[in-house]
Amino acid sequence: MGNQTFKFPSGMVAELRARSIAEMKSTLQAMVASQHEGIEKALTDATVRLVDPGPYPDGIEKNGAVDWSQTLEGDRIAGMVNMRIAAYRPKGHEYPMQLQCKHCPESFIWDVDLRPEPDGDVLVYDLAPDAAERFQNGEPSEYTIDGKLVKFLPLMAKHSLLLEKMSKGKALPDVDELSMVLRIIEVEGVEKDMIRRWIDSLGLLQQKLSLAMAEADCGIETTIEVYCPKCMKRYETELPFGADFWVPQSLARSRREKKLAEVRRGQSTD
Ligand SMILES: [Zn+2]
Repeated sequence: MGNQTFKFPSGMVAELRARSIAEMKSTLQAMVASQHEGIEKALTDATVRLVDPGPYPDGIEKNGAVDWSQTLEGDRIAGMVNMRIAAYRPKGHEYPMQLQCKHCPESFIWDVDLRPEPDGDVLVYDLAPDAAERFQNGEPSEYTIDGKLVKFLPLMAKHSLLLEKMSKGKALPDVDELSMVLRIIEVEGVEKDMIRRWIDSLGLLQQKLSLAMAEADCGIETTIEVYCPKCMKRYETELPFGADFWVPQSLARSRREKKLAEVRRGQSTD
């Protein structure tokens, strides 16, 4: 099927190969133990060439490809989507999501095009030039709030791994705040282990800091708006990265049917 080149939200450009259905299935199985590590391993396996390092330092290259443990989290999530597009070309971007309405008992299929807008439905946040330049120079971004200078990094893959370890398989209710704490490397006049308490004390200003930090980060929007064909109510849902994402049901079905047909043919010639 050949390889496919993708530009990532950080500005990095890399080439991914088409992984097989069996390889995608094994990733799905590996994700049971650790979602983060399963995806990282799959991306390492899928990435065949680093075309342009974007804002990353030399250390990002590993055996001619990419060291996915050192990337930004935004690139890692985009990488997961790109890996699916590359694996199931030419239709890998078509993702019929199986949804259960939040307002009524209806189950329905919502078709998402995983390509970036405007060709597809996925909104991509590119790393802003200023944030990219700072990251490239090994400097944090800065923002002053409540009279204090705050220095922070974009969300890194290693932060996401830490969050997974902290969550121990359950959803973290305060994941946004924890992500902020992990990204912040310094708050003027605040001890490192007091940063979380300081964020809490910000009150309404916390939202302002959160927005400023989002502007110096990158990634893809994984929340999408859908509406139920039965009750017609609109609601937001997270893109599901489950079995259907890794192994499209239509493919699994057609393979099963082919196998069954072969079995039947075998029986009729006996
Ligand atoms: Zn409904």
